[in-house]
Amino acid sequence: PAKPLFADQLPAGLQTISNIVAVSSCKGGVGKSTVAVNLAYTLADMGARVGIFDADVYGPSLPTMVSPENRILEMNPEKKTIIPTEYMGVKLVSFGFAGQGRAIMRGPMVSGVINQLLTTTEWGELDYLVIDMPPGTGDIQLTLCQIVPLTAAVIVTTPQKLSFIDVAKGVRMFSKLKVPCVAVVENMCHFDADGKRYYPFGRGSGSQVVQQFGIPHLFDLPIRPTLSASGDSGMPEVVADPQGDVSRIFQELGVCV
Ligand code: ADP
Repeated sequence: PAKPLFADQLPAGLQTISNIVAVSSCKGGVGKSTVAVNLAYTLADMGARVGIFDADVYGPSLPTMVSPENRILEMNPEKKTIIPTEYMGVKLVSFGFAGQGRAIMRGPMVSGVINQLLTTTEWGELDYLVIDMPPGTGDIQLTLCQIVPLTAAVIVTTPQKLSFIDVAKGVRMFSKLKVPCVAVVENMCHFDADGKRYYPFGRGSGSQVVQQFGIPHLFDLPIRPTLSASGDSGMPEVVADPQGDVSRIFQELGVCV
């Protein structure tokens, strides 16, 4: 695992977490949150103590993708800490559970909110905290990566050539910060119909990135109506169908983070 950038100044709230994994993408809508949530539930299914931090303050997806009973984060008034909500054993923190509407904030404010949510939460002992990063590689992402000692990064992309260019940016950001990119997930890579496999966005960009940057793993995640439906229903697909093909892909991803 990578050495934390600021190991001696590690925020108190993060000291009881063994591994922090960033799930990142350079664009919105490529399936980053889907991967983050399903990865977290896979790790939990493998026996780990897991939390998800939804750092996408502008468009928090976690409140749609999971359905905890308690949808508002509680505060510990004495310690002034945040108590995460929980769904099926996974601890959850999202701006979407903070009881406010969609944020209109400037970058530095966003960084402040993310920092506060992340570091004042009582995460407790966790084996993994999966961070659903805001899309892109700007200041907000950079600040977040500097606050948090990331163990590993997973980059989610779609197969188009255009995405490939953006992924390269993401890989460079993490490598500058000395965070190992352990995997690229090429999402929506194909679908099967009438006994045939279709590649609607072309092929080959993912393997190009992986080769160019020496990333150890590439995962193909197919287009699946059930994956989309599970995201909308609040139950991650790996929970709904633990024996399914998608679950197997996430198990392999879980092993490599
Ligand atoms: P991001 O976090 O990158 O913005 P999301 O994970 O929110 O993207 O995904 C965007 C939409 O696409 C969601 O409705 C999600 O359910 C759907 N989606 C993501 N991956 C797949 C897939 N492999 N098959 C079908 N739908 C998908």
